[in-house]
Amino acid sequence: MKNLLAPSTLEFTHHRNPAALAEMERAEILSDPGFGKHFTDHMVDICWSARGSWHRPRVQPFGPIELSPAAAVLHYAQEIFEGLKAYRHEDGSIWTFRPEANAARMQRSARRLALPELPTEYFIESLKQLIAVDGDWVPTAPDTSLYLRPFMFAKEAFLGVRPAEKVNYYVIASPAGAYFKGGLSPVSIWLSANYSRAGRGGTGAAKTGGNYAASLVAQAEAYDHGCDQVLFLDSEENKYLEELGGMNIVLVKKDGTLVTPASASILEGITRDSILQLAEDRGHRVERRQVTIDEWREGAASGDIVEAFACGTAAVLAPIGTLKADDFEITHEGGELALSLREELTGIQYGRIDDRHGWMTRLDA
Ligand SMILES: *Cc1c(COP(=O)(O)O)cnc(C)c1O
Repeated sequence: MKNLLAPSTLEFTHHRNPAALAEMERAEILSDPGFGKHFTDHMVDICWSARGSWHRPRVQPFGPIELSPAAAVLHYAQEIFEGLKAYRHEDGSIWTFRPEANAARMQRSARRLALPELPTEYFIESLKQLIAVDGDWVPTAPDTSLYLRPFMFAKEAFLGVRPAEKVNYYVIASPAGAYFKGGLSPVSIWLSANYSRAGRGGTGAAKTGGNYAASLVAQAEAYDHGCDQVLFLDSEENKYLEELGGMNIVLVKKDGTLVTPASASILEGITRDSILQLAEDRGHRVERRQVTIDEWREGAASGDIVEAFACGTAAVLAPIGTLKADDFEITHEGGELALSLREELTGIQYGRIDDRHGWMTRLDA
């Protein structure tokens, strides 16, 4: 659903939140924000209709969304989202990382979920508009950020099954503390034998809530086994690595080669893509191909595979210390390459290292 009628720019109206938090209350939250618990004073709201395309863009007080009980999203889950961060640089300026890649991915997700495609300029403008009023919510402590959550869903009150003709796009923001406090500890992951997250021709490559709904029981199983995260295999042969519930996976070989699953049913992370680019810049070989669980198991046992890590916007990069399955276990020590790539990526994001790929976009100017 291309929007040929869309105007080239959107004129946002601003409705200030009369109950915006005072500076002291905000400072209190920013001193220990956690993740996804606190929200800024405002949100972006843009309407779309099949007849009028994108319209009524606004920044308004953060608060409940009025929804008909018959809203299509509540019944048929026609919904997509994105996740990226705003980073405070040393000089106080506010930046985000590769937002055009998130915009493009949201357009791909929209096509799969039969939702309207939000033009890239609108996507980036929506982030700038929110930062214009809530920029003070971007924390300053090391490794903290303001997590930005754009999302879009079918708002039309209609129980017939077809793509909705009324959709809204929103952006909310939530301050995020350092993901790993007191050093990066390796994570443990549980190999799901009973569940798949996505199948051939399904929605695995789209960032949609339904994929997460499908992952929750498997994630609960991981917790039951004392693990932090779950790893899914392909749904057809149950042998190729796919990804974790919300992060991609990369293996590192002794010769420095990085191997990561290629699959039409995984969500291709911008963090993974960026980390692999940085590795290639350093002269590492990168292989995007099918990887079996046996290859990992045998490689770890023989010493051919020396590291494994998970990556995504929220945690950036987490070394995998253990993979637990019903009848075997894989363990890795260290994770030196992973940690140095994490350091380089966050260095670019926080403005400490030269942005040679032009990945950063300033949001507050
Ligand atoms: C968002 C997401 C990722 C990571 O993507 P990034 O762009 O790196 O944040 C990986 N897997 C799933 C299922 C996701 O939803």
